[in-house]
Amino acid sequence: MVKSGLLLVLSGPSGVGKGTVKSAIVEKKVFPFQYSVSMTTRKPRPGEVDGVDYFFVTKERFQEAIDNDELLEYNEYVGNFYGTPIKPVEEQLAKGNDVLLEIDVNGARKVREKMPDGVFIFLTPPDIHTLRSRLENRGTESEEVILGRIAQARKEILVMEDYDYAVVNDTVANAVSHIKAIVDAEHVSVKRVIDSYRKMVQED
Ligand code: 5GP
Repeated sequence: MVKSGLLLVLSGPSGVGKGTVKSAIVEKKVFPFQYSVSMTTRKPRPGEVDGVDYFFVTKERFQEAIDNDELLEYNEYVGNFYGTPIKPVEEQLAKGNDVLLEIDVNGARKVREKMPDGVFIFLTPPDIHTLRSRLENRGTESEEVILGRIAQARKEILVMEDYDYAVVNDTVANAVSHIKAIVDAEHVSVKRVIDSYRKMVQED
């Protein structure tokens, strides 16, 4: 029997840089894994490719996916729906491949309920001041929206108690190297390897 792959869930508060860290892991192929492409009703941004960054779908198609139980989890975020198609995740894990999800904290909570064996990694800002300047530097939101997001992030940071690891996103390179260390360690954690050693000691 093939050993199941690891389900790696990268999450954290809005504005912390989850997308940037995920892209760095994907582009630099820091460790072998399959990225779980989410389904979304949001419109593609310039440069985003359907089936690579997201599956861009209509609200009707998204609703159909919900009704048919095609999603491991889904959530609404600023007026758009985002969800994780379950089939590719299950197929890849069964083949022994690690699967990376980059999702918001609500989605991660739902995944934890269904797949508690996953590795839940919480990305945090170094401090509130840094989060504020990152949100301001995006230059896309009003002061009121920024204050709202900071208030939301203060609450979301404490959600980390439901996670296995907290990784500070001070620089992308540091965050990526900590995540690689976590994945390497998880692959040799006793609870994940004990079954293969039980088999080994029974061999002639
Ligand atoms: P963006 O629109 O900037 O690509 O993503 C917005 C938010 O949606 C980010 O916090 C991202 O992590 C989250 N997100 C992306 N895909 C999924 C998903 O499949 N499920 C959930 N719950 N959140 C997602």
